[in-house]
Amino acid sequence: MEQTLVILKPSAIDRGLCGTIIARLEQKGLKIAGMKMMQLDEPILREHYAHLVDRPFFPSLVLSMSRTPVIVMCLEGRDAVSVVRAMTGATNCRQAAPGTIRGDLGMSGQENIIHASDSVENGKIEVARFFYPNEIFDYSTVTTKAIYATDEL
Ligand code: UDP
Ligand code: MG
Repeated sequence: MEQTLVILKPSAIDRGLCGTIIARLEQKGLKIAGMKMMQLDEPILREHYAHLVDRPFFPSLVLSMSRTPVIVMCLEGRDAVSVVRAMTGATNCRQAAPGTIRGDLGMSGQENIIHASDSVENGKIEVARFFYPNEIFDYSTVTTKAIYATDEL
């Protein structure tokens, strides 16, 4: 099954939104394959946001992402990357559609609650960036047969 990386950002931790967000992801039918709290620092953020290091807002993004510890999650499911990305919504919470996590829970472009991998390839790279192999669990849930048809597994 496909895996994707989610980060519950300091804006989610600060505002006490982690339970709400995790509940939405669980209720969708995504399986939690890994989850932990960690403190991000500039080196890992320079790697994770390599596409943004030259942008003027990068220093403020580093401060924002390291203001508190974050919760990182590896979520698993059929088409998990595109499903979670759709649930996440547009980068700027003010433009994100109602019904999405950013659209329902935020007002900011930078303090936008959640990170989600944007491609299957980046999903693999990002899970490996934030988790050791023994922190990702391969297990089956009794609900799998209710979530998927046999030919979707
Ligand atoms: N960001 C920002 N200002 C911008 C664009 C992005 O502060 O003009 C921050 C924002 O927190 C965003 C993160 O940088 O989530 C990564 O940007 P990206 O374009 O990858 O957006 P995402 O994939 O998170 O929607
Ligand atoms: Mg991105």
